[in-house]
Amino acid sequence: MDLDRLTAWIREYARLIAENAQYLSDLDAAIGDADHGINMDRGMTAVVAALDEAPPADAAALCKQVGMTLVKSVGGASGPLYGTFFLRMAPAIGSDGAAFAAALRAGVDGVVQRGRAEAGDKTMFDALAPALDALDAALASGTDLTGALAEATTAAEKGRDATESMVARKGRASYLGQRSVGHIDPGATSAALLIGAAATAVRT
Ligand code: ADP
Ligand code: MG
Repeated sequence: MDLDRLTAWIREYARLIAENAQYLSDLDAAIGDADHGINMDRGMTAVVAALDEAPPADAAALCKQVGMTLVKSVGGASGPLYGTFFLRMAPAIGSDGAAFAAALRAGVDGVVQRGRAEAGDKTMFDALAPALDALDAALASGTDLTGALAEATTAAEKGRDATESMVARKGRASYLGQRSVGHIDPGATSAALLIGAAATAVRT
């Protein structure tokens, strides 16, 4: 993933977030406060504006800029979590597929350090963790990055869908306890879009 591909990833993610903002907020309305789409769209709009205004010099600078912009512009739990994700990616990012996978892993580790989410807590982690496991497995078996990210996207979407039957144990949705069951988690949904955007960016 060179700078151009990473930039394409971020722009594609911003496009998907804008396209799905209403849906993400509707998901959040069921188990939270109906702002996840608004939050993420505000953040990714600011990220694209920053990219247009000051194009970063390299991949690490890009990740840093995205992370800092998200932390600054997104209210709610998701801003610091996605912000941390990109800030932690920065030092690990490199040009080949393995380095990209390692950087994504560092990002998810940062999300866990910050939010203490575990598998099954009904959060973005439940889409990200299976996606990264699928990505690592595909790369290890010799699949190229394009194919590996396609497999990671399928795993992220499966993880997203599996949050429907989970009881929320982190964030605002956890206040609902059992009543959170039967709804897909909004953060897992935006996280699946993040992986899908990467698959699109390497393919095109
Ligand atoms: P808020 O809950 O503050 O309104 P958002 O609605 O933007 O923030 O984001 C909610 C999403 O954030 C949830 O759907 C969940 O995926 C994610 N989330 C919340 N708390 C955590 C956490 N501790 N760890 C990981 N993800 C979390
Ligand atoms: Mg919310």
